[in-house]
Amino acid sequence: MTQYVFGFDHVHDLNPRDMKDVLGGKGANLAEMTSVLKLPVPPGFTISTLACTQFLGSTLPDGVGSQIRAARLRLEQQISKSLGDSDDPLLVSVRSGAKFSMPGMMDTVLNLGLNDRSVRGLAQQTQDLRFALDSYRRFIAMYAKIVLGLDGEPFESSLEDVKSKWDARSHSALGVEGLSALIDIYKELVLRLSGVDFPQDPEEQLFRAIEAVFSSWMGPRAVAYREHEGISHDLGTAVNIQVMVFGNRDDHSGTGVGFTRNPANGARQPYGDFLVNAQGEDVVAGTRITQPLDAMKDNFPLAHTQLLDIFDRLERHYADMCDTEFTIEQDRLWVLQTRVGKRTGRAAIRMAVEMVDDGDLGISKETALQRVNEEHLDQVLHPQFEPQHVDAIGVGLGASPGAAVGQCYFHADDVVSAVTCGEAALLVRPQTSPDDVHGILAAQGVLTARGGLVSHAAVIARGWGKPAVVGVEHLIIHEHHAFLGDFRIDEGDWLSIDGFTGEIIPGIVPLVAPEASVELATLLEWADDVRRGHMKVRANADTGDDARVARELGAEGIGLCRTEHMFLGEDRLPIVRRMILAENPDKERAALKELESVQRADFYSILEEMDGLPVTIRLLDPPLHEFLPSVEELLVKEAHGALDQFEEEMLVAARSWREVNPMLGTRGVRLGFVRPGLYEAQVFALMEAVSDRLHAGGTPIIEIMIPLTVSGPEFQSARGWVEGAISDFIARSPHKNLDIKIGTMIETPRAALVADELAQTADFFSFGTNDLTQMTLGFSRDDVEGRLMDLYLSKGLISHNPFEKIDVEGVGRLVQMGIELGRRTKPSLSIGVCGEHGGNPESIDFFVQLGMDYVSCSPFRVPVARLAAAQAVIHHRSRICEGRR
Ligand code: PEP
Ligand code: MG
Repeated sequence: MTQYVFGFDHVHDLNPRDMKDVLGGKGANLAEMTSVLKLPVPPGFTISTLACTQFLGSTLPDGVGSQIRAARLRLEQQISKSLGDSDDPLLVSVRSGAKFSMPGMMDTVLNLGLNDRSVRGLAQQTQDLRFALDSYRRFIAMYAKIVLGLDGEPFESSLEDVKSKWDARSHSALGVEGLSALIDIYKELVLRLSGVDFPQDPEEQLFRAIEAVFSSWMGPRAVAYREHEGISHDLGTAVNIQVMVFGNRDDHSGTGVGFTRNPANGARQPYGDFLVNAQGEDVVAGTRITQPLDAMKDNFPLAHTQLLDIFDRLERHYADMCDTEFTIEQDRLWVLQTRVGKRTGRAAIRMAVEMVDDGDLGISKETALQRVNEEHLDQVLHPQFEPQHVDAIGVGLGASPGAAVGQCYFHADDVVSAVTCGEAALLVRPQTSPDDVHGILAAQGVLTARGGLVSHAAVIARGWGKPAVVGVEHLIIHEHHAFLGDFRIDEGDWLSIDGFTGEIIPGIVPLVAPEASVELATLLEWADDVRRGHMKVRANADTGDDARVARELGAEGIGLCRTEHMFLGEDRLPIVRRMILAENPDKERAALKELESVQRADFYSILEEMDGLPVTIRLLDPPLHEFLPSVEELLVKEAHGALDQFEEEMLVAARSWREVNPMLGTRGVRLGFVRPGLYEAQVFALMEAVSDRLHAGGTPIIEIMIPLTVSGPEFQSARGWVEGAISDFIARSPHKNLDIKIGTMIETPRAALVADELAQTADFFSFGTNDLTQMTLGFSRDDVEGRLMDLYLSKGLISHNPFEKIDVEGVGRLVQMGIELGRRTKPSLSIGVCGEHGGNPESIDFFVQLGMDYVSCSPFRVPVARLAAAQAVIHHRSRICEGRR
């Protein structure tokens, strides 16, 4: 019979930590700590993910019930206590634990096993009636909300009513009478709201709690989180049943969360928060101001030393930074869970590099490279505040790095509405809970009055790379305004927050791009070593400034210089318009000549910044009407009789160039046929710049690229114009031996299909996957994301946005075909990609597998592409090397 239930001490065939598929992350690590590391873990058992997936399909699978009963019995024997006992009752927690950590997204039930009888047993054992009653009332409320699905509000307001009736300022001031009254009220509420009595039978409590936790896998929070994180809905969660230990038992008890290294900045010293006389939820929810781990020394010197020793063992065992929840019950330390901890980008990079340097951990450079991801890099490449003197009005804990500026809103829904209206918003809350995640997602940053580094707000914001400041002591938040000390903040007011320093600054502080760290440079060098010989990274850059940034970030050339941007400046547009309006070749040539000198300077600065590296210049691509005012605009002016003569001519031109489907119209290489002098003039300006660079002692390397080609003859004609212009130039130049490659973009499906023909005369291919995606799916790249994309995604009609990540099955097959056909004609053909996919890690993984030579992406994506290319090479090394042999 299938085994669904495993004790933490079960001896598995594999190391339990490698069995997350079955045991879930939490269960696997509890078993690892119990059976392998022999750490002080409260005993318990795990019900596998398989039971969950089968339960979600119908009911608990056959045999699970008896296995749970047997595991319960064993647990009771192990600790000589039983659930529901009236003398010395066993209490358990019932916690979710999926393969991938989903903090706070699923449900947990604590103190299970309490009923009218066992609450007396607990009181007797602990000699603390108040503690027992408080545990019982917490359990009823939790059970009502999570298992019975009742609204939590009546329970919260009853607590408030009882507190005021008994004159208790906080719930800890509520005495035995108050708590007893509250328990009766809670039980009545359960009966009234659910129609059934609160169950006294511990077995019923246990089974219903297990089913509720399984069901929470499909709860809206969990589903939304998985969708955002790209986690499959099919995995299911395991459930862990664990003996409760109480950090809120007395002042010799406490609870905390600790990391073996600092998860915010990566510093190599244990880091954490703890609270005396509290339950774990109090730390995570951020409802009380926590103390740093070091302060444990005063209250719990032995447990503190033991904890640091456990941290050390865990880090060596997992060879990574671990995040651990622990509880001290009457001076005795228990480890409740551990996992490889989430970390900020800054910390991930620093730890990855330092752990390689620490030979003891046995981490290779390749392992280090795989521990850093796109989000981590995005975080360190996030903007920071411009260095200037700014007066902070308050300081909290810098919990998630990066600077954020936005208008304040005090509810997640209001943040979402503001963002939908185009505002930049900050989510400002007393603390956050999973109900706020949509607000966090939409906000520029998060500011909370309470909470520590491991509070919900901090963990979620860090995971998503949102700047966050938490635990701001003097921040008092009301419904629609707040006070930070004496400073009033109204809804819609601008604030700037610094997730590194925790500073809060009124108004808008200008942002600047961050400086990369030494560790980042080291890591990216390792990435470059791995990808060398497999995949280069270039940048899409249209100006000298962009080229400089790209080079600083490691670009190995320019894969796409969109020359249209050289035509758009205020000083250039009138000339371009004159060129379009020219009614004879002489006028056209005169206008083009005028453009030549400005273009020459533009090309010069790009070539100067990229000296010695290849620069791919794409000849003009967009439809010409993009350079003209809109017909509608001119018609309005005409209606007011306000058109001058030039504008009247432009109206005629705008009407005549207007096309119903401009993206499929007179653009790309087709422009060269309708305006024969255009490409020639561009090439001429480029050659002048090359010549200037040579005179200046530089080493310009240029590649000229023809856009939107669909056939061999078409490309050959364009190549002819380019070669003609180059020959004319060389004839008049002292530089005779210029090696200039002329290639084409592959951005129409036909180009991919006739790539063998194009390769006969093209020196290189660059896949324009933006247009190729648009044309393959028939999705207008300018319109589809507004109206259709979300609908298609939510209905599962497409699995992802194909403009973000390459559509492997469709567009990807065309790319693969284009590469194969091209290389069949010309095995040495250089091939790259310059669509947005060139900066997307999953697409880069695909391009590496196809044997592309380079990806080209926007300058700030270059580090991400360097890392992603290295990771892809590591994943596919055996296949790639095979292919090259
Ligand atoms: C492309 O189509 O992928 C491309 C890079 O060209 P553009 O985005 O300029 O159309
Ligand atoms: Mg294109």
